[in-house]
Amino acid sequence: MPESVETLLAHDKWDWDTQSHIKIVDQELCRKCESKPCLIVCPARVYTWEKDHIAVNYQACLELRACYVACHEFGNGAIQWNYPRGGKGVIFKLG
Ligand code: SF4
Repeated sequence: MPESVETLLAHDKWDWDTQSHIKIVDQELCRKCESKPCLIVCPARVYTWEKDHIAVNYQACLELRACYVACHEFGNGAIQWNYPRGGKGVIFKLG
């Protein structure tokens, strides 16, 4: 039987950057964003809605860039996404 996604993710480790590689640039666009797909597509639950703004837990990021694809306001500058500096970030143990 295949392992669950949660079990597979538990094999991963992180070498965290001290600075977030994901930034919410325009919270007003996020407030107006009705579907907020970033809350759904990220398997690591990096994005959460906190009363009136999007919060980002960049340390949990798996660098899949699902949010980058799903955010329909990305092109309008809602968020900035770059890989963590200096090769930091997630370390996949299973490829
Ligand atoms: S980050 Fe993008 S998808 Fe998420 S709430 Fe903001 S505009 Fe919407």
